[in-house]
Amino acid sequence: MSHLDKILLVVYILTTLPLAVILIYKISRLNQLMPKFNSVKKSLDDMDEQAKLIVRTDMELNKIQEALDKKITGLYALQRLSRIISMTLEEDQIFKRIQPEYLEDLGLERGCGFLWDDGHKQFALRFSIGYTEDEINAIKSFINNNQKQCLNFITSDKTLSSISGLNDLITAQQLNTIFKVISCIISPLLPQQNNRGLIFVGTQNPETVVTEGDEELIKILATQLGQALENARLFEKSWRAQQELEKKVIERTHELTVALEEVKKISDRKTNFVSSVSHELRTPLTSIKGYAAILLTGKLGDLPKDVRERLEKINRHSDELVHMVNELLDIARIESGRVIMRSEICGLQETASKVEDLLSGQLKERALYLNTGIAQDTNLVLADKIQLERVLINLISNAIKFTPAQGRITITSRKIDKMIRVDVSDTGCGIPEEAQEAIFEEFFRVDNAINQEVKGTGLGLSLVKHIVEAHGGKIWVKSKPGSGTTFSFTLPAAE
Ligand code: ADP
Repeated sequence: MSHLDKILLVVYILTTLPLAVILIYKISRLNQLMPKFNSVKKSLDDMDEQAKLIVRTDMELNKIQEALDKKITGLYALQRLSRIISMTLEEDQIFKRIQPEYLEDLGLERGCGFLWDDGHKQFALRFSIGYTEDEINAIKSFINNNQKQCLNFITSDKTLSSISGLNDLITAQQLNTIFKVISCIISPLLPQQNNRGLIFVGTQNPETVVTEGDEELIKILATQLGQALENARLFEKSWRAQQELEKKVIERTHELTVALEEVKKISDRKTNFVSSVSHELRTPLTSIKGYAAILLTGKLGDLPKDVRERLEKINRHSDELVHMVNELLDIARIESGRVIMRSEICGLQETASKVEDLLSGQLKERALYLNTGIAQDTNLVLADKIQLERVLINLISNAIKFTPAQGRITITSRKIDKMIRVDVSDTGCGIPEEAQEAIFEEFFRVDNAINQEVKGTGLGLSLVKHIVEAHGGKIWVKSKPGSGTTFSFTLPAAE
């Protein structure tokens, strides 16, 4: 080795040595930084993963949002549709109201509905959307050719769809060739106790295939349709029942009118008969009474005692007969409307006092106490004075007749709306319940001990009833055998 080479070698060593030292230092530094580098790399990888996750979640959220939007649109459509179908009670109208736009809001463009017709034993088409006549006829034939399966499906009460599976009710091929859709929902009408029907909806559009949300909505629609049909049927049933009832009422009213006319004719005939017989009786009665009176004066010669007694009897009985004939004539006259009741202002207190005076002899004789409690504001009535007197005379005379000694008779009054009600009460023997209606009929008398002793015609209360009713009032009785009786009647108040 030359001297120059040696020098060059030393120079080389001297220059490369620091470089080697630096290199070794850098390598050891690099080794120290390696874990940190690895951790940074891992963080970057993690961030990448998270970014991907965010993108994925965002996409899913978008999908959910879309499904939600669709559901909301569907719900709105359903709400409008259910409002519109619940507004009618006619079966035909319910189906007519299912318009294409409601299905379109669900992304569906075809639909149809069938109801089981029990009379014809087949499914009848009730609505069709998006199908031509031939297409819907083919569907109808398909449904009726598969009646048993369809009826089973209706009873199963389950909605089927292209998502959940059509359970061989409709095969994929039939869906395509007969129903002309690629995706569908089919639901029974609910409640199905009375309704046996189904609705079918579907689409040909691959972008709007049915979802689970659509399935739920169609199920709700089928329930509401079923409910609306049920309501329509109930309404129809009650409407028919009402028509039937109205018809019957009209028939019965007609029958009653005819019967009433007949009764009126008979009653008129009876009134005329009573009236003419009474008239005919009055003349001979007056003669009998006249002759008896003449004989009793003794102008035609003295009369033996027993003849006189008999003549007096004839006279008394004639009086009773005249009284009876007069009452009968009065009833007949009022019944035929020949008596015009005057409408005068009458004081009840004044009339009652007058009657009390008139009957004071009988009251005294029977040791009865009459009390009139007529207040000032219930005193004045609009009535025919003479007839009002007759009413009170009859009622008080009866009370005297049927009340044992020491008993009490009370007359009170009160105002009810535009009428004054007068109560004539006694503490007498009372009237059995079964006779309380009949006592207002002509000639009716209760079969009791007092009536067997005391004479009467059974005409008094009938006359009173006619008089009160001719004034536009009413009369009724309340009585408890053994405790007493209250006759109540109403007359127009004089305001
Ligand atoms: P009459 O008094 O001539 O028998 P009415 O027509 O006045 O005829 O009465 C019919 C019947 O009603 C009477 O016979 C009597 O049985 C019954 N009656 C009427 N008023 C009373 C009364 N205040 N208490 C009990 N019974 C009565």
